[in-house]
Amino acid sequence: MLNIFPIHAFSDNYIWAITNDDSSDLYVVDPGQSEPVLKYISEHSLTLKGILITHHHWDHTDGVKKLKSLYPDITIYGPQNSIFTASDVKLKQDDTINILGVSLDILSTPGHTLDHICYYNSDILFCGDTLFSAGCGRLFEGTAKQMFQSLNKISQLNKNCKVYCTHEYTLANIDFAQVVDPNNIEIALYKQFIISKRDKLIESLPSTIAQELKINPYLISLDVQSDFVIPKQYIKCTNKPESNLTNLRSYKDNF
Ligand SMILES: [Zn+2]
Repeated sequence: MLNIFPIHAFSDNYIWAITNDDSSDLYVVDPGQSEPVLKYISEHSLTLKGILITHHHWDHTDGVKKLKSLYPDITIYGPQNSIFTASDVKLKQDDTINILGVSLDILSTPGHTLDHICYYNSDILFCGDTLFSAGCGRLFEGTAKQMFQSLNKISQLNKNCKVYCTHEYTLANIDFAQVVDPNNIEIALYKQFIISKRDKLIESLPSTIAQELKINPYLISLDVQSDFVIPKQYIKCTNKPESNLTNLRSYKDNF
């Protein structure tokens, strides 16, 4: 059984801290900064054992060098074929790692970047910048078709799986989701729930796969092919099945 807590970094990043009840060992996901991780280690008397990287972007990796220099024995897990080359273990689709006695499998999820991977089991998903609550990552390197396939993989995961994204984008994403999917009552309910959390400065995450399948237009769009309200100027693609994702992303990038 893992314990997972958010370490806040930059303005809206979360570095997920993974521990268990049996040890003082710590793993962190996507440390874009080292200072908040070092503070967390000190406050909780933990020993850093490893780092999980989802993709090469600086706000997910810039803390690695300092952490590795202070804790040279740690294992760094990251994607193969990546600009980020500091990984000790380079991972691809269907690989499995074991941390704190728990197995995590790897999904290759290109779209946001070409190297992007997610770490998951039946209970937890670390999805980096591929999936956000009520949203998905921008297409910086991959194609809409690649992102469609990546989100399709994620949508097949266990419905109760908790979704740990890297950014606190939820409320802004909900505002967009309400505009493109105005008759979806689940989005309005979710908005109230998230506002009540954010008002108390509680993180909106983790979400769950079941929740996202109800309210996230990018996951809903995997099945629904024509029900979204998207202005004509953002309709860039009519090729099924990735057309909805392309057009939603085009609209959101200008929202
Ligand atoms: Zn990114």
